[in-house]
Amino acid sequence: MTEKYQQFRKHVGEIFDLDAVVSVLEWDQQTYMPSGGAQVRAMQIATVYRLWHENLTGDEFSAALEAAKEETANLDPDSDEVRIIRHMQREVDQWRKVPSEWVSEFKRLTTLAHQAWEEARANDDFAHFQPHLEEIVQMRRQYSEFFAPYDHPYDPLLDYFEPGMKTSDVKAVFDELRPRQVELVREIAERGAPVDDAILRQNFDTSKQWDFGIEVIKALGYDFERGRQDKAAHPFTTSFGIGDVRITTRFDPKYIGTALFGTIHEAGHAMYDQGISPSLDRTDLINGASYGVHESQSRMMENLVGRSRPFWKAFFPRLQQYFSSQLGEMDLETFYRAINKVEPSLIRVEADEATYNLHIMLRFEIETALAENKLSVADLPEVWNSKMEEYLGLTPPNDADGVLQDVHWSSGYIGYFATYSLGNLMASQIWTKMEEDIPDLTNQIERAQFAEMLAWLRENIHQHGAKFEPLELLQRVTGNTLSVEPYLRYLTGKYEEIYKLS
Ligand code: ZN
Repeated sequence: MTEKYQQFRKHVGEIFDLDAVVSVLEWDQQTYMPSGGAQVRAMQIATVYRLWHENLTGDEFSAALEAAKEETANLDPDSDEVRIIRHMQREVDQWRKVPSEWVSEFKRLTTLAHQAWEEARANDDFAHFQPHLEEIVQMRRQYSEFFAPYDHPYDPLLDYFEPGMKTSDVKAVFDELRPRQVELVREIAERGAPVDDAILRQNFDTSKQWDFGIEVIKALGYDFERGRQDKAAHPFTTSFGIGDVRITTRFDPKYIGTALFGTIHEAGHAMYDQGISPSLDRTDLINGASYGVHESQSRMMENLVGRSRPFWKAFFPRLQQYFSSQLGEMDLETFYRAINKVEPSLIRVEADEATYNLHIMLRFEIETALAENKLSVADLPEVWNSKMEEYLGLTPPNDADGVLQDVHWSSGYIGYFATYSLGNLMASQIWTKMEEDIPDLTNQIERAQFAEMLAWLRENIHQHGAKFEPLELLQRVTGNTLSVEPYLRYLTGKYEEIYKLS
């Protein structure tokens, strides 16, 4: 490639480096840093992030971008070169609206808020987190104002995580989903054959849980030569480059589901990042098409693979070897039904597939109300609890298992939650297409053979990184736009069988 494009890529690489350095600092904060490091770490992250923003939005980079654009004007519109330029143009346009001081202050604030959230959750003390969250909400409203005019003040927040998606789009999807999802949960409660998951709630040695999780994700295709796993308060995946994609997990010694499905979920994210084309390394495009597409990959691994009967045909005998006294006498069918038990519950990340989206809708309503300035942070615990009652028929006994349960708001991630539900929908759409292309898929999963599945995902989704916007990617892969039907078909079919509804 020509000289000006090379010059542009040099800038892109340096901007990426600064962003990746922040990710390393954040990974360290959430895994190994002692709590005493929080104040100074917040300054370090704020400094590096300000440099990132100044580089990205500076005149020098814009000039390099323009020169590269001219030089590559005749290339294939789907080429890496054109797509990288387009992506960086979008980033520049977006971040030029936001002052460097805001970016730096927001990073400092959220780094400290993360610490406060961990403490507040551990001590069930919302008041400890409240002032931090008030500042975050305040700054997030400011962020929206940088993008005025908008249709809805939540639009700029959502667009950050799901490019091209509007608040009204998500509302429309949820309006379609809600009645059918609620109806399914009601039918299961009223007519379903009882399912008992007490076998999952025994004492499970956490080091054995760790070992089994590693065995599973290695089989799925997570590459430990280019990654590692550590413990964290809230599981996450982070990528510093295609050669270093890390995951974290957490354990409950009295419930095997937490670590098991959490680990598979994060490995789904990580395999996406590990599968991105090396030609995109050291660019912003290695973070995937969007958070929704990312969740489609993690939730696909967690649920369509990890909670499926074929998967456990392969892995249940191994799990029994790890935990022979707890599960040795158990049959596969009882286990399969237990891990798919539908029951309204307090904690989103442990929710079954039938109730999961209800947790998301609740958060989406709260976030849009915060963006509209119709809800104050001080009222959040009460509003949370009343919405839990409305959606799931439960009142959290404390804030730690209520409004404080998720890490997202402490990281400033207001606008994120909807992407989980969008990911659920996309996962089913992508899966339907993959099953057409790999007719033998079920048999392969039963034999713990995932190579063809992973190769298909790499070919169709992973390798592209953020070259295509989410809906464009979905269209290219499935030939369709976003739809609730494949997801509802999957869900209904699965639970009609488990709960013997038909
Ligand atoms: Zn996830």
